[in-house]
Amino acid sequence: MIEIDHLTKRYNGKAAVDDVSLVIEAHSITAVVGTSGSGKTTLLRMINRLEEPTEGAVRIDGVDNRSVHGYELRRGIGYAIQGYGLFPHRTVAQNIATVPLLLGWEAGRIKARVEELLALFQLDPALYGPRYPHELSGGQQQRVGVARGLAAEPNILLMDEPFGALDAIIRTKAREDLQALQKQLGITIILVTHDIEEAIQLGDMIAVMDAGKLIQYASPADILTRPANAFVKELIGSGERPFRLLSLRSIREVIEPGPADGAPLSASISQRDALAEMLWSGRRALPVEDAAGAAIGRVTLDALTRQVLRPS
Ligand code: ADP
Ligand code: MG
Repeated sequence: MIEIDHLTKRYNGKAAVDDVSLVIEAHSITAVVGTSGSGKTTLLRMINRLEEPTEGAVRIDGVDNRSVHGYELRRGIGYAIQGYGLFPHRTVAQNIATVPLLLGWEAGRIKARVEELLALFQLDPALYGPRYPHELSGGQQQRVGVARGLAAEPNILLMDEPFGALDAIIRTKAREDLQALQKQLGITIILVTHDIEEAIQLGDMIAVMDAGKLIQYASPADILTRPANAFVKELIGSGERPFRLLSLRSIREVIEPGPADGAPLSASISQRDALAEMLWSGRRALPVEDAAGAAIGRVTLDALTRQVLRPS
């Protein structure tokens, strides 16, 4: 768990981050979203102490992040940034080995870890380990950047616009991969983005920032259905458009296994009707039954709201 407690950062008297408090649950993805200059990067960099706060504190599992040296702290927290920050004159394997080397791991352990990570990111170690960053595609560089961030087995991964340089087409795939990775490793990810669609697709929770302030901190479902103010409303796309798409899609696309309480939905209705039913009944999940009245799973509010901004 990461507690951000009344955190403020001022540059020359002007607040880049202004009295932000939030609690981030372990083993989840939190997306910090806002326009350029809203303080997202500064907030992220106060967690691993690349920036020191003017006021407030960050506690990780109850421990103040100032209780160890910054460089020690950062060895336990992965960091991946836009542009990936790969060292151009080091091979992929050497790039990934950076932090383990600093930590003094023995050569065999480093080699095994590099190979494990390359395999995890679907890059053949024999083929890609010896290559240089410029010999990789954008998507491959992005994965190596994340692999490097994960090399020393951190529990926390901070990501600053990690998909910003990718083409729209592979961005969706990269996000899906990250989600699968988070589930597989069980790590806590805090991801900064200016893209609300990305935040909704990836975030278990979303923190919306504007002018250094935290405007809303809520699940994607709540952000979409109960935006805190006009700014958040504007951010999620004005008016009806996103919801109109839901009327064209069947709930069959989002049925998942598992139980739910309440009056069952028919599997033949649209996602929009299902969302309306949930908002009306105040439930976060409803059971679904087929035409014969047999239970076939459930639909959740989270699954539906993730569909709202899905590209059509
Ligand atoms: P974001 O990542 O949301 O685009 P930043 O956290 O980078 O926003 O910046 C927030 C504000 O703080 C901006 O107005 C930016 O100009 C200012 N800022 C960031 N870093 C510094 C710095 N090192 N010195 C002075 N101002 C800064
Ligand atoms: Mg930034």
